[in-house]
Amino acid sequence: MTTAKSDKSDAGPGEFELIRRFFMRPGAVSRGDSGVILGIGDDAALLAMPAHSELAATVDTIIEGRHFPTDTDARSIGHRALAVNLSDLAAMGAIPAWATLALTVPSADSKWLQRFSDGLLGLADAHGVTLVGGDTTRGPLTISVQVLGHVPRGTAMRRSGARAGDLLAVTGTLGDAGAGLALVSATCLAQDRALADQLIRRFEYPEPRVQFGQAARGIASAAMDLSDGLAGDLPKLASASGLAAHVDIDRLPMSPALRSVAAPEQARDWAMAAGDDYELLVAVPQHRFAELASAAARLDLRLTAIGELRSGTDVTWTLNGREFAIAVQGYDHFR
Ligand code: ADP
Ligand code: MG
Repeated sequence: MTTAKSDKSDAGPGEFELIRRFFMRPGAVSRGDSGVILGIGDDAALLAMPAHSELAATVDTIIEGRHFPTDTDARSIGHRALAVNLSDLAAMGAIPAWATLALTVPSADSKWLQRFSDGLLGLADAHGVTLVGGDTTRGPLTISVQVLGHVPRGTAMRRSGARAGDLLAVTGTLGDAGAGLALVSATCLAQDRALADQLIRRFEYPEPRVQFGQAARGIASAAMDLSDGLAGDLPKLASASGLAAHVDIDRLPMSPALRSVAAPEQARDWAMAAGDDYELLVAVPQHRFAELASAAARLDLRLTAIGELRSGTDVTWTLNGREFAIAVQGYDHFR
């Protein structure tokens, strides 16, 4: 589309040069198992799906000032733009394969683009994902990444599959990214630089649980990824499954870094409600929990049972054995 010509032509690398320099990978297509018949450069990409599979598709947009602070390192922005999508496919148990990128930048700043592309393509390489197309425009910094993947027919995990009596479990630790964001935004100050950096890293470079998601397929009854915080996301899984959920706050897994940087109540609030952790929340029949925990352990990941699903509606919480009314809420763009 070319209604406003000035949108796409300016000094610095032109649009095509920019795409070629920062987003095209020679040889990306020839890699035998990528499923890419035709990648960047034509009007659309052509992709080959494995037999007996379903296409899993997701897209997420991140905007400067809303999803990441202004002046965030472009490498982190590139990483996160892809990571949030990989996390969605992980939650389905799908195998990510291809990505497209709709990039809106205020100017063609080569240094910025190089770091952004390093962050995005570095994570793509780590997961065997090929960038197969996109769109580049000029405007306020906004990044939309779409990830496409596949899953053997009929085996994807859904939010709606949980049964009463299933355990609720989460991967990794909760609240680290919330603390990391507070630390980069300087709303929280830490004594110990190394611990602070660990937490900031959890915000800037989340590791989507892609392999665990695939391992959980066939064992977990339901799954979702935690992007908006447990308190905000768990009600979605519970209501999709038509169940009530109960969480024992004392069991929420918190990292040593979080525990030492934050006061106990603050750490607990972040673990319960802060977003951006991109851990997976799963429901699993009790008798299969050990099996799922060993699958996690093989990936060097901890899996912690934090509660259970019950018949009924609503989410309840206990702390020290007492019912706990939560004041904190997950993130909602329109609240
Ligand atoms: P069209 O006008 O036909 O949509 P474009 O001129 O926008 O095509 O883009 C040319 C090619 O470059 C297309 O294959 C498109 O998918 C790809 N492309 C554009 N921007 C990007 C980007 N930021 N990253 C990767 N591929 C891109
Ligand atoms: Mg285009």
